[in-house]
Amino acid sequence: MKVRKLAMTLVVGLGMLTLAACGSGNSGSGADSNGKTVGIAMPSKALERWEKDGDYMVSKLKEKGYDTDIQYAQDSVPTQVSQIENMITKGVDVIVIASIDGEALTDVVSKAQKEEIPVIAYDRLIMNAKGVDYYATFDNFEVGVIQGQYIVDKLDLANQAGPFNIELFGGAPDDNNARFFYDGAMSVLQPYIDEGKLVVKSGQTDFNKIAIKNWDGATAQSRMDNLLSASYTDEKVDAVLAPNDAVAMGVVSSLKGVGYGSSDRPMPIITGQDAEAASVKSIIAGDQTMTVFKDTQELAGVAATMVDQILNDKEVEVNDTETYDNNEKVVPTYLLEPVSVDSDNYQKVLIDSGYLKESEVK
Ligand code: BGC
Repeated sequence: MKVRKLAMTLVVGLGMLTLAACGSGNSGSGADSNGKTVGIAMPSKALERWEKDGDYMVSKLKEKGYDTDIQYAQDSVPTQVSQIENMITKGVDVIVIASIDGEALTDVVSKAQKEEIPVIAYDRLIMNAKGVDYYATFDNFEVGVIQGQYIVDKLDLANQAGPFNIELFGGAPDDNNARFFYDGAMSVLQPYIDEGKLVVKSGQTDFNKIAIKNWDGATAQSRMDNLLSASYTDEKVDAVLAPNDAVAMGVVSSLKGVGYGSSDRPMPIITGQDAEAASVKSIIAGDQTMTVFKDTQELAGVAATMVDQILNDKEVEVNDTETYDNNEKVVPTYLLEPVSVDSDNYQKVLIDSGYLKESEVK
């Protein structure tokens, strides 16, 4: 182990020189560096949230004296795998991974495990891998519950007979979170669908039918276009379950394209997730209706604390040891609470807290 570490340190040294030369995400040793490096593998910069996650991770780890090697993979699985392989070769001390495809990292995580490098799954669980030591995320089921409950409350389904028309969208099928969001939302919506108060006119309710590959907004937009022309020429849609802001924005564009958003055809209730600035703007404008805020600063804080506890041989704080089975083990998890945001509370929750600037959303 000692020899391995020494060899790794040399490789890290060389690696840092090379990477510094080609402008990678390596952040060099600060004055009070403790000499340990944390690899951070992020999925892409396509969503604002992952950039915030990455920036917060780097700054929280720096505060604790760690160097970081942060890499974004442009949503390409092979790129992410090779970035993690490089981190292993360089001998980083811990790797924090927000996976692109939760089922595609079995081999590379097992390589990390062989090198005794602890792995933390960040936001998304890594499946089929024994070497995942901990998981830091938000309560993913609860995210879906919040979205479903928002629709139920806004349509006042407790008192109204309806029926109301709803269409359902799911997240990326290769992202383990997407199922949790769907299951959470359906735990609230399904009874109303069974009762006939909510009607899915397209008939598409199965997760595999409604899932949007890569969480891609343009794909969501064209699915919504198809749903509208196939099932809503005579009737209007009253609610759309959109699992995140990217999907919601695609749905909004599609609806506006056929005249929703006017007084005789108001926008349906449209859910979301992430509190992306563009979506908050859309909420203020009355297009998207709500989003689920997951404070990336808090999540980065939890993950950084886990790193610190692991590397100091302290007990790692978790609050869920039952929910997240990755088919190899139940991964000890720290779950954070998501928060519902709409036009009534965005100011307090997002702006006054400093998460977003007023100028970003107006
Ligand atoms: C995250 C969401 C995000 C989605 C798309 C999910 O795994 O939990 O916050 O919107 O991926 O990037």
